[in-house]
Amino acid sequence: MATIQWFPGHMAKAIRQLEENLHVVDIVFELVDARIPQASRNPEIERLIKEKPHLVIMTKSDLADPEETTNWIKAFKKQGLPAIAVDSKANITTKTITRITQSILADKLDNELQKGLKERPIRAITVGIPNVGKSTLLNRLVNKRAAQVGDRPGVTKGQQWLRSSSKLQLLDTPGILWPKFEDERTGQALALTGAIKDQRFASDDVALFALKFFRAYYEGALRKRYKLTDDDLVLSDVDLLLKLTKQFGMKDDYDRASDRLILDIRKGKLGRYTVDRTEEE
Ligand code: GDP
Repeated sequence: MATIQWFPGHMAKAIRQLEENLHVVDIVFELVDARIPQASRNPEIERLIKEKPHLVIMTKSDLADPEETTNWIKAFKKQGLPAIAVDSKANITTKTITRITQSILADKLDNELQKGLKERPIRAITVGIPNVGKSTLLNRLVNKRAAQVGDRPGVTKGQQWLRSSSKLQLLDTPGILWPKFEDERTGQALALTGAIKDQRFASDDVALFALKFFRAYYEGALRKRYKLTDDDLVLSDVDLLLKLTKQFGMKDDYDRASDRLILDIRKGKLGRYTVDRTEEE
């Protein structure tokens, strides 16, 4: 998805659409990027969805540090938020998501049955910032052959329910939320993972942020990828970036070298990593 510049008008529209759609769903699937479970969360999400039951789905877990992913799931649970991690490119199963959703909504569904209401599919909407993987997950969850369930009252014109399983239906239009730009670190984490690709953050700043971060948490990966010596690793971040620039054969084009480093990291060439750390929570 193309980068969206978020102006107040866009935010107002996103909020209005989400509010309309919330009326017709039982549960919200809030997608966050497993590498940045904090930075990729919309700052207003709790206020926006209020009391609606919600499941945090950590996408791109194939790119994230598995240990930190486990820690994050625990951290979310501590906040009373059920959470799961998925790799939408490989192993996402409709069954698992349906089962978890049913267990979150068990009381509500039981209540309805006891009141004599007919058993019905659960309805969900996926929400998240651009590029977090909403469309990919939706496509994965939906059985394409029998995808469209048809118009239903209450759904904004043009929107459809898509059948995921006999027990789960998804709104075909995901809710697009804006990321937070509250502090520099969050912005750099978003830029490093490719969540935002605009010019708000200078490449060399993001590259320096990345070097500092990898030295702190994944020094071995950095060392291996760029064949760094002990001497290299005592250099300042700036000097290390200069060294890498030369090593890449880019003379003194730090911007290009920064882009190269960032791209390597985004593509997973330095291995799996999680920028937002639970221990800093
Ligand atoms: P949306 O803007 O939220 O709808 O995001 P998309 O579904 O378009 O996904 C953005 C990018 O992330 C695409 O290049 C997807 O292939 C990629 N992507 C989505 N989910 C995953 C995942 O679980 N693992 C990996 N490695 N890539 C993913």
